[in-house]
Amino acid sequence: MKRRALIAGAGAGALALAACARKPASTGTVPSGKRFEWKMVTTWPPNFPGMGSGVNQLVKNIEAASAGRLRIKVYAANELVPAFEVFDAVSQGTVEIGHGAAYYWKNKTPASQFFTAIPFGMNVLEMNGWMYYGGGLDLYRELYARPQFNLVPFPAGNTGVQMGGWFNKPITSVDDLRGLKMRSPGIGGEVLKRAGGTPVTLPASEIFTALQTGSIDAAEWVGPYNDMALGLQDAAQYYYYPGWQEPGPLLECIVNQDAWASLPPDLQTIVELACSALNDQMMAEFFARNANSLALLEEDEDVEIRPFPDEVLRELRRYTGEVLADMVAAYPDVARVYESFSAYRGRAVRWSAISELAYLNTRNL
Ligand code: CA
Repeated sequence: MKRRALIAGAGAGALALAACARKPASTGTVPSGKRFEWKMVTTWPPNFPGMGSGVNQLVKNIEAASAGRLRIKVYAANELVPAFEVFDAVSQGTVEIGHGAAYYWKNKTPASQFFTAIPFGMNVLEMNGWMYYGGGLDLYRELYARPQFNLVPFPAGNTGVQMGGWFNKPITSVDDLRGLKMRSPGIGGEVLKRAGGTPVTLPASEIFTALQTGSIDAAEWVGPYNDMALGLQDAAQYYYYPGWQEPGPLLECIVNQDAWASLPPDLQTIVELACSALNDQMMAEFFARNANSLALLEEDEDVEIRPFPDEVLRELRRYTGEVLADMVAAYPDVARVYESFSAYRGRAVRWSAISELAYLNTRNL
């Protein structure tokens, strides 16, 4: 218990290490020869492009860097536990490690959603800035370290700004969202509810069938690369952008705290660095492959790619403000995370305006 308490309280000390600038966790010691065989459960279909393939690479990197002292066997969603039981399986120690997205655990703790994506929130650069250098990771670890969760989280992947989703009818005003049953997890789903829609949270493996059979009217998943992997272009006609609901969603690795504490420092460092590498690598893969897949979708005569009207986005942003205000009032954990998130976002918006955004605009002159 003493060790767990130390880890839980470590915050910016032993655990919340910045990805790049830091001291090695272990210096001058001979690594223990003890071998570890772990199981990893994920919320993704087997070998799913981007997420599943990223996880496969993560465990290969950990095994190679540890000279085989830490081997991890990956189980896709439903192979060991269903997608939405990943959190419990790792928390309870059924398995040692998991990969998914924090907003899937909003029923465990609503504040978790800030560690994936907030509508009209931050893009990947801003999100990583908040995580590693803006206090986000400390709050994330503090929340997950609670005894009832017993987890250590690591940023471990990002899709970049997503698409707004697939619809079977044009969306010309916010009224068109009324009555719409849509796969839309996290706070984006709550915003849809304010607009009169019905949000549904489905794992990747169930989205295509639900959309094709009409059990849902619309679905957002990720972007061109991943949506084509599910075949969503064959289940709906209108493909809207941008993904206001998920501007830079962070994915997570979660490790059971007792399993984490059992690792010697060099293996802990290897796991942390491998997650950090995945965080970068997955974003690079999504960017490259989204660009390729977009070109294919633009040639598909059955698909219409459209921007949401500005008026729809303004209304959704207004609803987002209402949803966040209600959550802040209802949950002290949310209030605490929101304070850090919104203060950081304010500074990030200003810097992004005269850096990334200003540059992107110059390309369209
Ligand atoms: Ca999404």
